[in-house]
Amino acid sequence: MSPSTNVSATSRGTPGLWGRFQGLGIRNSFLIGFVAMALFMVVVMITALGTSAGMARSVSSILDEQLPVTLATFRAARAADALAASGTSLIAVSSSADRQVAFERVSAAQRVLDRALDELTGVADPLAAADITVQVAELNQNLDSLRTLVDERLSLIEAQQRARTQLIADLQAFQQELTFRVRILEADSDVINALMQRSSPPVEQIARMSGNTVPLIPLSRFYAEVESIGGLLMGATQEPTLAALAVSEQVINHRLQVASETLEKLPPDVTGVLNRHFAELRASSLSPDGLVGLRQRELMLLADGEALNQQNQQTIARVDLAIAALVETRLSQIDQAADRASSANHRSQLWLLMITAAGLTGLVAFFYMHVMRHLVPRLTDLSDTLLNLSAGRYDVPMPAEGKDELGRLGSAVHQFRRMALEASRREEELQASNRRAEEAVKELEQKATELELVNGRLETLSLSDGLTGLANRRRFDDVLAAEWAHSARTAQSMSVLMLDVDYFKLYNDQYGHQQGDDCLRRIAGVLKTRIHRATDLAARYGGEEFCVILSFCSEEDAVKIAEQMRSQVEKLQIEHRLADAGVVTISVGVATMVPLPGTAADELVRQADIALYNAKRLGRNTVVCAGKQLE
Ligand code: GH3
Ligand code: MG
Ligand code: MG
Repeated sequence: MSPSTNVSATSRGTPGLWGRFQGLGIRNSFLIGFVAMALFMVVVMITALGTSAGMARSVSSILDEQLPVTLATFRAARAADALAASGTSLIAVSSSADRQVAFERVSAAQRVLDRALDELTGVADPLAAADITVQVAELNQNLDSLRTLVDERLSLIEAQQRARTQLIADLQAFQQELTFRVRILEADSDVINALMQRSSPPVEQIARMSGNTVPLIPLSRFYAEVESIGGLLMGATQEPTLAALAVSEQVINHRLQVASETLEKLPPDVTGVLNRHFAELRASSLSPDGLVGLRQRELMLLADGEALNQQNQQTIARVDLAIAALVETRLSQIDQAADRASSANHRSQLWLLMITAAGLTGLVAFFYMHVMRHLVPRLTDLSDTLLNLSAGRYDVPMPAEGKDELGRLGSAVHQFRRMALEASRREEELQASNRRAEEAVKELEQKATELELVNGRLETLSLSDGLTGLANRRRFDDVLAAEWAHSARTAQSMSVLMLDVDYFKLYNDQYGHQQGDDCLRRIAGVLKTRIHRATDLAARYGGEEFCVILSFCSEEDAVKIAEQMRSQVEKLQIEHRLADAGVVTISVGVATMVPLPGTAADELVRQADIALYNAKRLGRNTVVCAGKQLE
């Protein structure tokens, strides 16, 4: 049956965008897949870049904003501490040289702090820096006050120094005066004592001298009082506290009172000069510009300085607190920035992971669906169609043709179907032709077989004797030539027996030609039984004569075989009344030669024939060897 050729391709109409996508070929599907993958990778890379940019922003914010502020704050704190320490050193200033060093130290510390504050206000939060600036301004103000105090204290110290010098000079003058008077008094006393030691003391003189001396007795005590007051005043200038100074002042006042009372007891002529010195001593002691007053003011200045220093320490503590707060704020901002960067990084990583997972899953799912729902069915259709076409089923739905790979594959399937149809048609023709050829071949084979049989028969006929089945004369000649050549090559001897039935003409005459033929067949049977080697051959030479070829056979062995043949024929006991023996016998001529290369076998046959002739002459039923003398 011829297959149908009018199966139409699947029609899909004009496709929309989705339809076009469904109809995408493998190459375009993968192209779109790769483009989508590349776009997706770009999105992922942009997201990753955004993430790293956010991280970089956080880190640069820490490095560019937070760290400089923190460092500037630390520098400001260190400068403020140095300034406070320089302020403390002002308290201890007690000379112009100290003042110079301390003031320079304070100025240097102020310059360093100013620079640090400038730097801080340049980078820090203005509000936080303003707090520190206010505190530092207060500190500077305190330091200015301290400097003023230092100057006042130095001037007081100088005034004290001058007052002390003045006091010492006054005291020396005072003491000189007193010493002079006390020595006169002591001299007068010595004189009085001497006068009183006399046996008759001059009473009047003693009374007069005593009258002048006694009023001067309190002078010694006054002298001691003045010395004591001088020592107290010197001591008061070293008093460490105002309280101690007040006690000293009371003591000095008391001593002055006592000394004043003592002075009043002295005669008026003595007190004149002493009163002036005493008034100066009193002024040095108790006036506001006196030693006590000066020391009092110095101690008050020291107390003010201490208070200012205390204030400085408190201000520094506040500056420290403000700086600590600023540093704390900065550190917490750094911490927050780091936390933000870290959490942003985690979020970004999570986001990136989700985008990647979702994108890849979506792409894989999309293409899996596309491959499974569109490409695989088209491929399945194509393979089913191909399987059907291959199985010779041509009436099946054909796939759509198109420009994509599957469409071209569809066109190829159409082409394949056309070719398959053509091939099928040709195969049918070929099969018919083959069948005819096979029949012809069979016929030829049959004829060849027959011919072979005929040839075989012809071959047999051409090489064997029809009556006896032995080899015929032609075969005998061929084998003789081959064996002769072989023996010549190997230099081995070969023998030929020539056999002739005795009185056979008479046998035919007596028993008939038919029985003669039987006799010949029986004699041939005997010959066949004596031939054992493949190279040996028994042949009918002609009429009632036979020939035997014995290759590689010595004369002795050949005679033995000839004798066995002769005796076996005799033992057949075929009746022959007209023969001498009464039975059919044979005569045998034996010839043996070692062939020379290049010679013919005719000589061997001729020698055997002569030997046979001699056997006949010797009376028949005998074996004669060629070359043997007849007896
Ligand atoms: P000899 O002892 O001297 O050989 O005497 P012979 O009679 O055998 O001598 P000869 O060779 O003259 O005779 C041969 C005879 O053999 C003559 C013929 O009648 C007979 N003969 C030859 N061929 C055949 C054959 O095929 N069949 C039969 N039956 N006889 C044959
Ligand atoms: Mg004969
Ligand atoms: Mg004969």
